[in-house]
Amino acid sequence: MMEFDLGVVKEGLQADVIVVGAGPAGMCAAIAAAREGVSVILVEQGGFCGGMATRGLVGPFMTCYDSKGENMIIRGLFEEIVNRMVNKGFAIHPSLVHAGTAFTSWIVVGHEHVTPFEPEGLKLVMDEMLTEAGVKILYHTDFLRPLVEHHTITGILVNSKRGPEVIKGKVVIDCTGDGDVAARCDVPYEYGNEACNLVQPATMFFQISNVDSQAVEADIQANIHNFYRKDGVNYRSLHWRVSEARANGDWDLKRVSIGLFRMPKADEWCVNTSRIMGVDSTDNESLTNAEIEGRKQADMIFKFLRKYVPGCENARLKATASYIGIRESRHIQGDYRLTGEDLISAKVPEDSILLAANSVDVHGRFGPTSNEYVPIQGDYYGVPYRSLLPKGVEQLLIAGRCVSADSTAAGAIRVMPPCMGMGQAAGTAAALAVKEGCSVRQLNTSLLQDVLKGNNVYL
Ligand SMILES: Cc1cc2nc3c(=O)[nH]c(=O)nc-3n(C[C@H](O)[C@H](O)[C@H](O)COP(=O)(O)OP(=O)(O)OC[C@H]3O[C@@H](n4cnc5c(N)ncnc54)[C@H](O)[C@@H]3O)c2cc1C
Repeated sequence: MMEFDLGVVKEGLQADVIVVGAGPAGMCAAIAAAREGVSVILVEQGGFCGGMATRGLVGPFMTCYDSKGENMIIRGLFEEIVNRMVNKGFAIHPSLVHAGTAFTSWIVVGHEHVTPFEPEGLKLVMDEMLTEAGVKILYHTDFLRPLVEHHTITGILVNSKRGPEVIKGKVVIDCTGDGDVAARCDVPYEYGNEACNLVQPATMFFQISNVDSQAVEADIQANIHNFYRKDGVNYRSLHWRVSEARANGDWDLKRVSIGLFRMPKADEWCVNTSRIMGVDSTDNESLTNAEIEGRKQADMIFKFLRKYVPGCENARLKATASYIGIRESRHIQGDYRLTGEDLISAKVPEDSILLAANSVDVHGRFGPTSNEYVPIQGDYYGVPYRSLLPKGVEQLLIAGRCVSADSTAAGAIRVMPPCMGMGQAAGTAAALAVKEGCSVRQLNTSLLQDVLKGNNVYL
């Protein structure tokens, strides 16, 4: 490695709380902290909020209900964001959306009450909410490295068009998805599932428009009795058309069916089907190869849809994602490592800051076509505050996909509603620690839980 002199590094920016990454976790962390009355800077490498929900075109928001599908348990900021989007016509309220329908790609288990939404609407609503809360947003700004003194993070170095810059802060929240800040503070982590030497595959989402949705739904309804699972592989939507295309030499992907999710506009669908194995999202060369391969696969799938699927003959490619979809990378080690066993057995630790019931959803562990989907055995599980506290460094919190969990547990809480819940908890904790004059590790978790409950978080 070579050391480089960065030249003149600007100083002067400072805030009580710095949030790095404006995906589902980061945008909620920033709003929650600012609403507690502390100053907040939100640093994001892209030009808008939403992370995978916008730049990755990932949707719908997975369920926010308990495992019976009876009560909405992920509320707080998630519910407020959804309500604002519903009021503007950008989303369908989850109470109206049922499993086994076009909105869930006809998947039943674990998919009751998902939230179909329009990514462009999320960008607008998030700008609005962050601005209202008084968050200073720095889009187009890359986190470079942390500033650490005596095992305590005191700020970050960022880079942007105006050059390298220091931002000082009392608490930093790592919401980068990949745990970039924690990793560069030398916090230990597991990359993917080290026991299996695997990381979940990446996917290039894309959206199509001008679809005759009634014709698509009729074809699937006529064949729905023929959905089945064999050797760890799900044969679901349109597997009969995929077989036909494979026989004709028009399909060479290791996927047997199509993840086709209807969006709020009647003629629009998002497609979650491409699969790229072994992508390392912390390596730009690996990401570059994945983007190229992802677009190639998306093109093949789009051509397949137009040629083989009734109702898609005149479909138009609305967009491919501007960033390859990353399901898994670093799992940062925190004071508590949440396990798949904890979730499946529905444990609720005393310091839980979020209740969720999302099933364990791990792709590709038993080969490129495989899927594991394990529902939990109770109504819900709890995510403890200790999983947001990275080991060996003070005043740093982690939230979202990179939180302290094993690969199986992360396979459940990586979906967007729990990420938003973790973000809200981290932002609230950071602000409370600043106001109480204590470290985030010393924060009284009962106080945190009380404030969260006061803000419509279900605990
Ligand atoms: C293919 C696929 C399908 C999925 N399906 C669903 C689904 O149907 N429903 C569901 O709810 N969830 C789904 N998910 C999961 C979900 O989208 C993600 O796990 C979730 O978005 C993670 O949120 P996050 O905030 O932790 O990270 P991200 O969404 O990844 O956001 C991280 C943000 O940090 C920014 N960032 C990263 N590094 C830096 C840096 N160094 N400097 C500055 N900014 C930085 C990024 O630009 C980004 O905006 C899916 C994911 C994938 C990939």
